[in-house]
Amino acid sequence: MKRITLPCGESVPALGQGTWNIGDDARLRAQEVATIRRGLDLGLTLIDTAEMYGDGRSERLVGEAIAGRRDEVFLVSKVYPHNASARAMRRSCEASLRRLRVDTIDLYLLHWPGDVPLAETVEAFEALRREGRIRHWGVSNFDPRWMDDLWATAGGAAAQVNQVLYNLGCRGIEWDLRPWQRERRLPVMAYSPFDQARLLRKRELAAFASERGMRPAQVALAWLLAQDGVIAIPKTGQAERLEENAAALQRPLSPDDLQQLDRLFPPPTGPTPLAML
Ligand code: NDP
Repeated sequence: MKRITLPCGESVPALGQGTWNIGDDARLRAQEVATIRRGLDLGLTLIDTAEMYGDGRSERLVGEAIAGRRDEVFLVSKVYPHNASARAMRRSCEASLRRLRVDTIDLYLLHWPGDVPLAETVEAFEALRREGRIRHWGVSNFDPRWMDDLWATAGGAAAQVNQVLYNLGCRGIEWDLRPWQRERRLPVMAYSPFDQARLLRKRELAAFASERGMRPAQVALAWLLAQDGVIAIPKTGQAERLEENAAALQRPLSPDDLQQLDRLFPPPTGPTPLAML
């Protein structure tokens, strides 16, 4: 498994598991739990969730899936921006810990920028870190201006990742945010690597994949895995798809393949506002 080093020096797998929309349908529960566990077997031990997902249902399902296997997992969860104040963040974090049935969250992210001053949010993260409720913290959906503000905030440069929308069909961050983060060795955690499956339906991608005996999802992930400092967190509730996705690790793209993908899915030619879902 390719690993990505966080600024703190710890490393995490470059391919993890997303869990938005997981736990919403009781009939799929057993299958979704089994899928996450299969992911752990295959080394996809970074799991991303959030208090927002299904109003806690995703965290509950993740808690069930990792029960007895906590030590294998690098657990990421997120706090709503309106809960990013000192008092509300503690409450949110404790509720997440209960739903996840763990003592500590490995990486706790501010889900997107909000109205609470960054200085207060950073202090709230640091307080939770001192108490051992979280081990690290970071941000999500921060554009370069927000990142500048964070770095200008006392203690703000202790962030460990910025989680943003990044996939073959959505490459805007390559213009400004990726260079910003690369300079500071701050990994990008790429969410919606399949653009919520829309990317997988693109004819160009399907043709490119079938010419190489690959599945479209494998090309989308192999492309992200070819990037420096990028962690991808695809979501699936189906074990066969999870196996297909994990197999992308065994199918690296050649320099020629990457050039061809640049032609099919061109990089940005100027600044664009940060895309979000
Ligand atoms: P993804 O881009 O990961 O796509 C998920 C969709 O693709 C699902 O419909 C899934 O269906 C389908 N899929 C998965 N694997 C395959 C495959 N091999 N073949 C065909 N279809 C497949 O979307 P997400 O938006 O879920 O992004 C991933 C994760 O990123 C989220 O789950 C969440 O953890 C995080 N995220 C963070 C955000 C933020 O603001 N910080 C915003 C959005 C996402 P099925 O499950 O039925 O297989």
